[in-house]
Amino acid sequence: MSIAENIKKYRTELPEDVTLVAISKTKPTEDLLEAYEAGQRHFGENKIQEMTEKWEELPKDIKWHMVGHVQRNKVKYMAPYVSLIHAVDSLKLLKEINKEADKNERSIDCLLQIKIAEEESKYGISTEEAREILDSDKFKSLNHIKVKGLMGMATFTDDESQVKKEFEHLKSVFDDFKETYSDMNILSMGMSGDYKIALDSGSNMVRIGSDIFGERNY
Ligand SMILES: *Cc1c(COP(=O)(O)O)cnc(C)c1O
Repeated sequence: MSIAENIKKYRTELPEDVTLVAISKTKPTEDLLEAYEAGQRHFGENKIQEMTEKWEELPKDIKWHMVGHVQRNKVKYMAPYVSLIHAVDSLKLLKEINKEADKNERSIDCLLQIKIAEEESKYGISTEEAREILDSDKFKSLNHIKVKGLMGMATFTDDESQVKKEFEHLKSVFDDFKETYSDMNILSMGMSGDYKIALDSGSNMVRIGSDIFGERNY
């Protein structure tokens, strides 16, 4: 199927309250334009430089999601335009995003990445660390960011019950957090291989790459 057909398929398949983020990393801008012309507006990238080059070239009503690990010294490049930063994992990073958002006279929405996978993954924080951040006086003084929810990646495995267990765990953490932290309404979980399980578990934002744009070569 073409990229446009894939976008339409997802639009039909996904519940209305679920946001589809088309993960376009490594793909040329023509591919993104095809998705755009089929109505897609949310795009996700994992490298700030690549995202910024695409932002410069493509229509300005696109909402850009940074889904990769963020280095603090590169926040300034996306601060003027980024729509949502998914993988925030420290107060230090939030401070930097707040500083750059302030310089651009805007507020930037973020998600905290919670480590849910069994496997030794490099990124993400524990539920306790997330609470510590959100309860800290420093965090409460940051006026140019909002933590709008949580993001998680399940273990890369064929064992669906394992994946389901991890997504359901994150959903229960999210429900818990929502009661305390009023800005929270986004739960970003699910990729090409596991989005159906994620939706069953209560995700309201899926990040789909290869199933829309085809396999990546690198
Ligand atoms: C690449 C990537 C995706 C999309 O992966 P696919 O398996 O191609 O759908 C989703 N989330 C993150 C954080 C990614 O880096």
